[in-house]
Amino acid sequence: MTTTQSALGDRAAPVAVTPDTVPAGCYWWTDPDGDLCLMPGCMARVQDPEAECTCDKLGARLARAEEKLRTKEAAEQYAGTWWDALTEAVRAHPNANQILADAHRRTGR
Ligand SMILES: [Zn+2]
Repeated sequence: MTTTQSALGDRAAPVAVTPDTVPAGCYWWTDPDGDLCLMPGCMARVQDPEAECTCDKLGARLARAEEKLRTKEAAEQYAGTWWDALTEAVRAHPNANQILADAHRRTGR
């Protein structure tokens, strides 16, 4: 049995497309043998199918936003750990009050 990819066509039986029917970005599908195939829609994936998709599709935008959020959360966690350690170091310092007063003066608070 042969399964055709009528929506995409193939080399022997190409399907006419219009700007409205061409996928707007990277498009994955499985071929009749079950192999996963990628039709790249952005230069990043033309060069490397495993690269992060840079298409302006909602899913790609969500993936980039989630990655940015993970990066910011990691930075926030690092900053929190650093803040806690610095606070403890200042409190343990003999000149803690002077250091805190200087910090308040520098931040204007
Ligand atoms: Zn893409």
